[in-house]
Amino acid sequence: MDLYEHQAREVFKGYGIAVPDAAVADHPKEARRAAELLGGRVVVKAQVKTGGRGKAGGVKLAADPAAAEITARQILGMDIKGHTVRRVMLAQPVDIQDEFYVSYVLDRAAGMFLAIASAEGGMDIEEVAATRPEAVARIPVDPAGGVTEAKAAEIAAAAGLPPETADVLVRLWQVLVGEDALLVEVNPLVRTADGAILALDGKVTVDDNARFRQARWDDASEAHGGDPLEAAAAAKGLTYVKLDGQVGVIGNGAGLVMSTLDVVAGRGARPANFLDIGGGASAQVMADGLDVILSDPDVKAVLVNVFGGITACDAVAEGIVRALDAVHLTQPLVVRLDGNNAARGRAILDARAHPLVEQVTTMDGAAARAAQLATR
Ligand code: GDP
Ligand code: MN
Repeated sequence: MDLYEHQAREVFKGYGIAVPDAAVADHPKEARRAAELLGGRVVVKAQVKTGGRGKAGGVKLAADPAAAEITARQILGMDIKGHTVRRVMLAQPVDIQDEFYVSYVLDRAAGMFLAIASAEGGMDIEEVAATRPEAVARIPVDPAGGVTEAKAAEIAAAAGLPPETADVLVRLWQVLVGEDALLVEVNPLVRTADGAILALDGKVTVDDNARFRQARWDDASEAHGGDPLEAAAAAKGLTYVKLDGQVGVIGNGAGLVMSTLDVVAGRGARPANFLDIGGGASAQVMADGLDVILSDPDVKAVLVNVFGGITACDAVAEGIVRALDAVHLTQPLVVRLDGNNAARGRAILDARAHPLVEQVTTMDGAAARAAQLATR
């Protein structure tokens, strides 16, 4: 679970990390009042659980409370990478001298955490990392030892950060441990004209396995990271994860679906989602799954990959046929049925003869066809 910036800001404050004074608002009028209390000039910031708000026009300076109201009206309701802005944070503007990047992230492969830091923070850290990796320091952090003052000094020196950032690096580690976080990130961490070190933006990802003891952030409407498709799928009881490709994928069994994602990728396309319809694969589940997948505008083709075990392929085919009656199919659907009663299943789909439905008998062949249809 990701926290909003304003929640991350609160957490940082609780651990003694300096942050600008701020308030949140759901309405432009409220934004105006908040700006009045904060001294007039404010930065108006969209509260959405995605990065790149600055570039998307979701971070704007307002000169006075009237301007804050107008700016809040522009930003509220804005769509940033599929996330609707429902709330803004108003923050006291800061006179920035230098912008740094610092984060701690779990490195699963190494069984360690990784401190990532750069003296070139701000909005383009991804670009810095891609074009000049030497400007981004990556220092392993053993969770048993943690980030001591000495370790913090080592990280700051490796990244070319001023030594006075070491204190924030120690506290940020305490945030990670105390909040059961998998990631804490500050971008930018700034040095102001008068030498103060402030966290101007924050991201905290709390480990979902620790939510039982971090329940204060729980908000039913915000489960699933605010992703609208994941929320819609969860409401229908589907095991669905949104990915960023163009081939919608439905399969039975998590292992088969994961392999299907790999095979789609191996055929030169990218999966748009993970969706496991489980053992039952009823018509309703199939229709619900197709419905969610087809409402993703990135999806250009759908691949159904089913290996009949206890669930026979003819039952799955019946499910697909009934789903085709319930859902308006807008993209080609490639179906691969194999295993128990595959021949009967295929015959049922052939008899339905839907113009957008094709059958391919092998997993690799079906993935190749779906990839071809999605990328043509
Ligand atoms: P992001 O684009 O989602 O990462 O949003 P940020 O909160 O990081 O804001 C983007 C950029 O806006 C920052 O890198 C800063 O350069 C700028 N910014 C944000 N707050 C302030 C502020 O108080 N003063 C100034 N001068 N710039 C700010
Ligand atoms: Mn940022």
